[in-house]
Amino acid sequence: MESTYQIGSRTFVLDQQKAEEAFAAKKVINGRETMTFNLLPLKYSWAYDLYRSMKANHWEPEDIPMQKDVEQWRSPTEISDVDRWIIRMGLGYFSAAEGIVGDNILHVVRELVTAPELKLVLGRHAHEENIHADSLLYMISSLGVNPHECEAMFEQIETIRRKNEFVTRTSHGLRRDMDLTELENKQLFAKNLFVFGQCMEGTQFYGLFGMILSLYRQNKFPGIGQMFRYTLRDESNHIEVFRNLLMDLIDENPDVWTDSFRRELVDLMKEAVELEKAFIRDCLPVNAVGLSSEEFLQYIDYIADRRLEGVGLEPLHPGIQNPFPWLAEMMDIAKEQNFFEGRVTEYQKSSSLSAVSDDEL
Ligand code: FE
Ligand code: MN
Repeated sequence: MESTYQIGSRTFVLDQQKAEEAFAAKKVINGRETMTFNLLPLKYSWAYDLYRSMKANHWEPEDIPMQKDVEQWRSPTEISDVDRWIIRMGLGYFSAAEGIVGDNILHVVRELVTAPELKLVLGRHAHEENIHADSLLYMISSLGVNPHECEAMFEQIETIRRKNEFVTRTSHGLRRDMDLTELENKQLFAKNLFVFGQCMEGTQFYGLFGMILSLYRQNKFPGIGQMFRYTLRDESNHIEVFRNLLMDLIDENPDVWTDSFRRELVDLMKEAVELEKAFIRDCLPVNAVGLSSEEFLQYIDYIADRRLEGVGLEPLHPGIQNPFPWLAEMMDIAKEQNFFEGRVTEYQKSSSLSAVSDDEL
């Protein structure tokens, strides 16, 4: 018996019984092992949808002009030493942090999930981390910063080193041959998804996002700010990928979600917030024009609570206000008129054009 599947604008006809068997065998973990990469029938449609929107947001660092940033970086009067220090901390932290996220996706998460559409979106996720790492390289070379200084920051600045250690300790023990039928291992994997998605990309990236985009709002470092806006938009999709993975994993493995495990996750978020607050104090040792460290600390508490609620955990500061409502609008890139819009439209056009030609085949 045949039946029809509709995915977006496309229609597929599948043998119903075989399709149902394949569908039932799809799992976040411990699903059917297959050497083939068969996306159909699609079970985790959120993964395919996110893959499509991530692709539509494609950007390339070299399309963003850096002349103004370079002028400001060299000018003794246009920007302050605090402004310059925030940018240095941004270059130092993110150059390596993007790679740590990408490495965890490729060597841990993408290896352990079994459904092909989950591997698909994780492949795109890892590619976006490459684009982010490349954008840092472009910023460093444009400004003429010594790359070894950035590398050294990752080892020598204690608050950066501790953020790094916090995430890599949930990554190092996990490899593709681990037995995920054991509860303890399932919880280690769930913890990895929570720490990378909600604590690191979801919370510990937001101190610098807030600071760099505050500078951008004051017309400081427009090229770097633009790249961070695109990065922020990508990160919001990454947080969603990892949130959905965790939610579906728990759904399929309810034994993971014990009271003590939930408390452990909340404690990990508390630790992530403390590390981020210490890092913010290093980035902004004194208040600068339009930048108050108190507001950034409150912002981190606000963001952490949104991440906890996103995975069904209790917030740490119920009712806390967002001190930077403008920051959410920074992601709303498509609506705005700017030099880059033409290029975004081009990328989107070329991807929809290839969709049309696929359909015509
Ligand atoms: Fe990233
Ligand atoms: Mn990311």
